Amino acid sequence: MSTTEWHVDDIVKIVSAESADLAVKMKCDAPFGGHTTYRVGGHATCAVEVSSVAELLVIGNAAKSCGAPLAVLGRGSNTLVSDTGWHGVVITLGPFSDWINVDTAGLEPGEELVIEVGGAVAMPVLSRRMASIGVTGLEWMVGVPGSIGGAVRMNAGGHGAELSDAIIDADIVDLHLGQQERWQVDRLELGFRSSALDNHHVVLSARLKGSMSDPDLVSTRVEDIVRWRRQHQPGGQNCGSVFVNPVPGEVSAGALIDELGLRSFRIGSAEVSTKHANFIQADSNGHANDVYEVMESVRRQVLDATGYDLRSEVRLFGFDDIAAGGHAGDTV
Ligand SMILES: Cc1cc2nc3c(=O)[nH]c(=O)nc-3n(C[C@H](O)[C@H](O)[C@H](O)COP(=O)(O)OP(=O)(O)OC[C@H]3O[C@@H](n4cnc5c(N)ncnc54)[C@H](O)[C@@H]3O)c2cc1C
Repeated sequence: MSTTEWHVDDIVKIVSAESADLAVKMKCDAPFGGHTTYRVGGHATCAVEVSSVAELLVIGNAAKSCGAPLAVLGRGSNTLVSDTGWHGVVITLGPFSDWINVDTAGLEPGEELVIEVGGAVAMPVLSRRMASIGVTGLEWMVGVPGSIGGAVRMNAGGHGAELSDAIIDADIVDLHLGQQERWQVDRLELGFRSSALDNHHVVLSARLKGSMSDPDLVSTRVEDIVRWRRQHQPGGQNCGSVFVNPVPGEVSAGALIDELGLRSFRIGSAEVSTKHANFIQADSNGHANDVYEVMESVRRQVLDATGYDLRSEVRLFGFDDIAAGGHAGDTV
């Protein structure tokens, strides 16, 4: 839940004393919902793009001193911000975290290799880059429009694979402890669309496994996935699957919603997609609260009809006052 007592001037004052450069970059009443793939929702009290670990630590320390909640925003593809916005500090990672390191020199087909990738890198970019040099294992990422940081936090996955299959370890900054550490995969506790990471953990980078293959073969698989996504998933303003599958591999949230005939179920400016029952679409110029109301209504209808209490995969920001229903555990 958000803390309401802190004031933005306090945090700006603390940051100014530590780093004038960083203070200049802090934006008050900054667009937040507009930076998500839903493209609805209000502003954050404060937002800043950091350009180093040192800056991360300064902002983390200042937020902690003021009692201000903070969160990292990746590509915003799994985030819904309330129409009234969020009283907190949004951090984005600058170019210092947008890099890929991989060395394929001398490797034969079938040989394994390690891919080092910054937390700000977009998954489709990594997938395509690997395909172009014949590295296989990350083809599925082309269909997931998030960042590597978001992928680690959510244990993103698709097409029979997930991040936990590929990850070796991740460099994490703990903003509460003010330190950077390498977390081995076990410590990340990656489950179905979940991890041990909290809002004060920042994924700086990750090391992933891949193996050598033929660039044409890998690129063909990437294009097949892109084609499949276009055929089976809607475009427009959404955040992919809204609910976590209640029994992964056995009971899918989409099938439960579909069986109740809820495709095209609408409240105001949001509706369950006609193309994929676990997607909720927002209209352009729509309202985040309508998306939330559709989520809540779908959750209640599925609970009443089947006994499954669907859990939100989407991270909800600023819904504290109306989240007394099923999503309280997922709100910030
Ligand atoms: C069209 C579409 C299709 C999708 N398909 C899939 C799919 O097939 N499989 C799937 O798993 N997901 C899918 N998603 C959801 C989404 O892309 C993933 O959950 C993705 O991992 C989110 O990454 P992000 O950078 O956008 O995260 P954001 O939405 O920016 O943030 C999500 C969470 O991750 C945290 N976070 C972001 N970056 C960092 C970081 N560097 N360090 C620490 N925490 C961080 C945020 O604080 C927040 O809690 C889809 C979304 C869309 C719009």
